[in-house]
Amino acid sequence: MTGDSIRVAVIGCGIGGMAAANALLHRDIDVHVYEQAPQLGEVGAGVLITPNSLRLLDRIGLGGAVAAVGASVGEGSRYYREDGSTIAPILTVDSSGWNGMFGVHRADLLGALADAFPAERLHTGHRCVGFTQDETQAAVTFDNGREIRVDAVIAADGIHSTLRTYVAEPSAPVDSGSVAYRGLVPAQQVPWWPAGISQLWMGERRHFLVYPVRRGTLINYVGFVPSHEKTVESWSAVGDVDTLRKEFATWDSPIPRLLAEVTATNWWGLYDREPLTTWTAGRLTMLGDAAHPMLPHLGQGANQSIEDAAALSVFLAGAGPQGVPEALLAYENLRRHRTTEVQLGARANGRRYDSHFQDLAERDAEIAGSVPFRSWLYDYDAEAAALEALAGR
Ligand code: FAD
Repeated sequence: MTGDSIRVAVIGCGIGGMAAANALLHRDIDVHVYEQAPQLGEVGAGVLITPNSLRLLDRIGLGGAVAAVGASVGEGSRYYREDGSTIAPILTVDSSGWNGMFGVHRADLLGALADAFPAERLHTGHRCVGFTQDETQAAVTFDNGREIRVDAVIAADGIHSTLRTYVAEPSAPVDSGSVAYRGLVPAQQVPWWPAGISQLWMGERRHFLVYPVRRGTLINYVGFVPSHEKTVESWSAVGDVDTLRKEFATWDSPIPRLLAEVTATNWWGLYDREPLTTWTAGRLTMLGDAAHPMLPHLGQGANQSIEDAAALSVFLAGAGPQGVPEALLAYENLRRHRTTEVQLGARANGRRYDSHFQDLAERDAEIAGSVPFRSWLYDYDAEAAALEALAGR
């Protein structure tokens, strides 16, 4: 790090914050990360890492670590109707044929990102409670009384972001009308479950997704159902296993058989927010769920936050302390359009998966015809796009 290296504070050590911290450090930027929790930890079950983010993790030396804790998901992955008849293959490769898709336990992913980052730069027990800035620097205050002064602040503090209030008007969460039951089943309890593939069944107002995590030793399932009551915006409320079983009792037989092995499940009220029209105020910008909370129906929440991280690192690497506000705006300008499309695309895909169609043949045609959109997602190279935008400025 040189004498005029900028100082960056990332607020929030989720997947987005830790990806940003690693990407910035990889470009020799002086970065520290601050997390409200006393220790790093992730609740929840699996997350799918797709080629558009794995290629970026690879370049900062983390692709191998993620692959080592994940489970490869590849050919044979399929979409089905609720009775088990096949609709179409699930795309798991980019257009070059590279299979960069892994099912990863969220805790394993966060662990891989945190292990690669110097512990002395990671500060737990720091809940951000205030932000100010002037023309030369920004200051963040924490609930433990500490204050830091830096050149740039990156809000990676999730869907309930505290720092968002310094950038955008308050916005209410949008209730999708459905909830998800999520959990894990040890693979040895269901030896008949096919290895190495992702499967998604769809029926009226419901869909069911399954893929492996943790080197195939755990089977991750998510059952999406209509919400019959007002739900909380939480990832980790405890769900009722019998209710979950009833929701899918008449579906393709592997689903009831798998659910017969479930002993505990978590329940997740599905909300997103309308896309924001701005992410940046001077020396403060946002990343990940703070900037673009999305429904999970494209499996892109974590992947888009990793794309944000790679792009941000390109723009900040080229900036001195005075150039930070301009660099952050350039980052936002590149990222906001793509993430808005992904946010809206996730809503549209949820309607497809939950079969909000008069004619199911139309739904099936849309699912089978989704390859160009998936390729648009998976072929994208956020680092190359940022370098190109930087060169064109
Ligand atoms: P988050 O993962 O929410 O991380 C934000 C971090 O900031 C947290 O560690 C939080 O403690 C910290 N923080 C918050 N406020 C402050 C503050 N004031 N000061 C300091 N630190 C603060 N997506 C899926 O597609 N499928 C899933 O199954 C899934 N499960 C999820 C389970 C959980 C528990 C969560 C939180 C998210 C889940 N997501 C899931 C969403 C997906 O993981 C995210 O879209 C993606 O990881 C990007 O998140 P993020 O890092 O921006 O925010």
